[in-house]
Amino acid sequence: MAKIIINQTRCKGCYLCMNFCPKKIIGVSDKLNEAGYYPCEAKDEGKCTGCASCANICPDCAIEIYK
Ligand code: SF4
Ligand code: SF4
Repeated sequence: MAKIIINQTRCKGCYLCMNFCPKKIIGVSDKLNEAGYYPCEAKDEGKCTGCASCANICPDCAIEIYK
């Protein structure tokens, strides 16, 4: 099982990671961050394979994956 950590302060809500996750487990938080964006969050972390597509595509390096 993989661990996904999303830095919600750094996230600017572009949602590229959501579109690139093959398992579709990344969703949008219902709480605004300090910059005024709705950051993404892992909705079903147990299904994460640790492929790191989300982390690689994030333009703000806001995602860390640990296997
Ligand atoms: S790709 Fe990065 S900046 Fe864009 S929504 Fe995902 S975590 Fe946030
Ligand atoms: S590591 Fe892969 S499976 Fe896990 S959240 Fe990121 S894109 Fe999805």
